[in-house]
Amino acid sequence: MSATKHAATQNAAHLIAGRRIDGAGGAGGGQVRTNVDPASGAPTSAAPLESVREAEEAVQAAARAFETWSATPVGDRVQPLFRFKALLEQRAEELAAIVVREHGKTTAEAMGSVRRGIDCVEFACGAPGLMMGRTLPQIAVSTSFCRTEDQGGVGIDSSVDRLPLGVCVGITPFNFPVMVPLWMWPMAVACGNTFVLKPSEKDPTAALRVTELAHEAGLPPGVLNLVNGGPSVVDHLITHDRVAAVSFVGSTRAGEHIYKTSAGAGKRVQCMCGAKNHSIIMPDANRGAAIEGVTGSAFGNTGQRCLAGSVAVCVGDAAEWLVPGVVEAAKKIRIDRGDAPGCGMGPLIDAESKERVLKYIEFGIEDGATLALDGREADMPGEGNFVGPTVFDHCKPGMRVVEDEIFGPALSVMREETLDAAIATVNRSKYGNMAVIFTSSGHDARRFGAKVEAGMLGVNVGVPAPMAAFPFAGWKKSFYGDLHANGEDGVRFYTKQRVTVTRWL
Ligand code: NAD
Repeated sequence: MSATKHAATQNAAHLIAGRRIDGAGGAGGGQVRTNVDPASGAPTSAAPLESVREAEEAVQAAARAFETWSATPVGDRVQPLFRFKALLEQRAEELAAIVVREHGKTTAEAMGSVRRGIDCVEFACGAPGLMMGRTLPQIAVSTSFCRTEDQGGVGIDSSVDRLPLGVCVGITPFNFPVMVPLWMWPMAVACGNTFVLKPSEKDPTAALRVTELAHEAGLPPGVLNLVNGGPSVVDHLITHDRVAAVSFVGSTRAGEHIYKTSAGAGKRVQCMCGAKNHSIIMPDANRGAAIEGVTGSAFGNTGQRCLAGSVAVCVGDAAEWLVPGVVEAAKKIRIDRGDAPGCGMGPLIDAESKERVLKYIEFGIEDGATLALDGREADMPGEGNFVGPTVFDHCKPGMRVVEDEIFGPALSVMREETLDAAIATVNRSKYGNMAVIFTSSGHDARRFGAKVEAGMLGVNVGVPAPMAAFPFAGWKKSFYGDLHANGEDGVRFYTKQRVTVTRWL
C-alpha cells in the first residue's frame, strides 16, 4: 500500500445515482490509497481518500431517491433483491476471486463469506413480513360526540407502524468486503431507506462489483450509492443533516469516534467493533473437537476476523494436550496465495498488518510468554504479507498478546485451575464480542453461559457466527449502540415506529 498524490486510480470508482464515477475525475485529485495483491505485490486497486464532494453527491442522490423509494410498496421493493440474490449466486465465484486477489483469503474462505452475505439478502427479502406493524383494537371507548355502537360509545383502536428513516450510511471494514456491506444495505433498502455505502479503502473492488450487480438486478438509481474515501469522507457522511442513521463495522478506535460523532450529530448509530475472543477448554472436552475448533478459530482468515478465537484459556490439565495438538495442526496448514490448490491460510491484508503481527511476536517474548510455535519460521512464500500461525503458551493477564487485538494468526494460551477462574479471566477483557467453551459437561456449559460477558457464545464450536436471522454484535468495547446488526434487530435499526390512535365518530 502507498498513499500518494494523484496516484494511479484504476478501479477507484464511486457509484452514485446509478452512475459509475471514476475516482480520478472527482474532487480535484487528493490522496489515493493504492492497494496490491497481498500475496504477490501486484497492483489491484486504488481508492481515493478525500472524495468529500462525491460523498455529498451520494447523500444528495440518496435523499432524492428516498421520496419515491419509501413510497414504493414493500413487496415491490424486495423484487430487485430476489433478483440480486440470484445474481450473487451466479457470480459467487467471480466475487470470491476478487476477495482472494485483493484481500488474500483462501478461495474456500472467500466463497464462505459470499455465502454468508447471500444469506443476509435472503433474510431482507422477507421485509414484507418483518416490518409489519401491530394493532390493538378497542383500547378505549369514547362517549363524547357520539353514542352509537349499541349506545355504549365508539371504540378507539391503536396501531404501531414501522417506517423507513431516510438516508442511511454504512462504513465497512476490509476483512469481509462482500459480506459486511450485505449486513447493512439490503435490509435498509428493503425497509424503504436509501443508502450510502463507504467500503474499506483497503479492498474496495468487491463492494463496488456487488453494488453494480444490485443495479443490474434492477435497484433504481440513487437507492444504493457507493462512495470511496477515508476519514474525511466518513466524517462528512456521519454529520450530514440529510443522514438519519449510521452503521459501522471496524476497529474499536474508529468505532468510538464514529459513535460519538454520529450520536452527537443526532443520528441513530450502531458500531460493531474490535475483539479479543476467548475459548475456555475444559479437561473433559472432546479433544479432537477442541483442537480443531481452537486451531480453525485462531488461524482461519489468517486471524483477521472479529470472531477469531485468539485466547485459549485451558482449565486444569487441558493445556497438556491442547497446546501440542494445536501446534501440530497449525504446522500442517498450508500457507500460500489464497487460490493455490490446498491452501489453508493466505497472507495478511497489507505490509502494515504483517509488521504489526511481527511486532506482537516480539511483545509476547518480551513479556515472558513461551513461544510454542513461531510464525516467522513457517514454511511460506518468500514474497507477500505472509506470517505463519504463532502460539504463545503460559500467557498471563496484562501481557500485550493477551490484552490487545492483534488481528493476525496468533493464539495466546492461558492456564487456570477452575472454570470460575477461567470465566473471570475472560471477563477481565475490555472486549466482549464472543466467547466459547469446549466441554462435555452441561453443567459447566450452563455456568459459562450464565457468567461470561460476551454478546455471542459458542458451546463446542470454534466460531459461533450466527446466521442472518440472528442479531450479530458483541458487548463492552466490541459494540456501541443498542440494536445489533442482522436479524430482527436489523429491521428495528432501519425503521422508526409510529403509533396511531383512531376514533371514528
Ligand atoms: P478500521 O476501523 O481501520 O476501518 C473500518 C472503516 O472505518 C473503514 O471504512 C475506514 O475507512 C473507516 N475509518 C477508519 N479510521 C477512521 C477514522 N479515524 N475516522 C473515520 N473513519 C475511519 O477497521 P479495519 O482495519 O478495516 O477492520 C478490522 C477491524 O474491524 C478489527 O478491529 C475487527 O475486529 C473489526 N471488525 C468487527 C466486526 C464486528 O462485527 N464486531 C466485524 C468485522 C471486523
